[in-house]
Amino acid sequence: MPYTYPRCKKCGRPAFYRVRYARLWLCPKHFVEFFERRVKRAIDNYKLVRGVKRVLVAVSGGKDSVAALYVLNKFKEIYGYELMGVTIDLGIPEYSEKSIRIARSLYERFGVDYYIVKLSDYGFTLGDVQVWRRVKRIRRPICSFCGIVKRYLLNKTALEVGADVVATGHNLDDLVKFVATDYYNGRIEELVKLGLKTPASNGFAGRIRPLGLVSGKEILYYVNTLGLPYVHMKCPYSPRQTNIQDRILEKINDLELEYPGFKIGFVKSFLHHLKPIMAKSYSVEKKGIYRCSICGMPTSNSDRVCGFCKLRMRVSETISA
Ligand SMILES: [Zn+2]
Ligand SMILES: [Zn+2]
Repeated sequence: MPYTYPRCKKCGRPAFYRVRYARLWLCPKHFVEFFERRVKRAIDNYKLVRGVKRVLVAVSGGKDSVAALYVLNKFKEIYGYELMGVTIDLGIPEYSEKSIRIARSLYERFGVDYYIVKLSDYGFTLGDVQVWRRVKRIRRPICSFCGIVKRYLLNKTALEVGADVVATGHNLDDLVKFVATDYYNGRIEELVKLGLKTPASNGFAGRIRPLGLVSGKEILYYVNTLGLPYVHMKCPYSPRQTNIQDRILEKINDLELEYPGFKIGFVKSFLHHLKPIMAKSYSVEKKGIYRCSICGMPTSNSDRVCGFCKLRMRVSETISA
């Protein structure tokens, strides 16, 4: 029997993508439709934009955030929210210039109002953090300091522009990684915050992750099919060795090959069964919230200096010395 090329299940045209867990072959047009329907279903099922008037989408220029910007812009009339974008200039040589160029070009193409927030306006860059780490022989990975900086600036921008939620491009693989490693490390406090939505509380803006149930591979096909530009370069500071998080994801990806749909099942069963029980016995609200005595932003540090201000002071001491 001659080999027959796979055909799109919807229209019979040549297919290019196989959704293994749904046993579907799809042509580019129907793949895009399928992808957007899945994202829309997640937005509906997890009530991501219910009561939300203004969404601030964080765009780093990577494929995930580019996809998030594109779909959220496409859906804004359906849900009636206003969309704004924010890109943080972390001051990472070459990498930051590339991401800002791409983000800006997309905001302008889609007519989305946007903010470019420069970390250097606060007196330091991520390059300075790297220098400080070397000088002080700090072993904590740079990504965790980058996380502090991004969380702080995104939250601050959201509050300043009156956004109800910050949307990020976190995908299914990210959620699988976070759930598995927080579980492995017993970080219940972090686990209860995971999911497609973190409601606003204690002066922190809400967070939504509309791509939380689509995989990185699906997102890659999506942005490529639409011909959207994105940053291909890896962050020059990202660690060279694979860490435990990545190893766990590799193993779970092996399971996905054997049992298509494993990753979605893993995350959904956490969200629907484990998380509600954990949230009952562990409430984030129980923790004290203070105002940072330096910048006035909320912090859980009882010495009343937020993590961002601490980092800023330590780094500036070193680089000005
Ligand atoms: Zn088709
Ligand atoms: Zn502060």
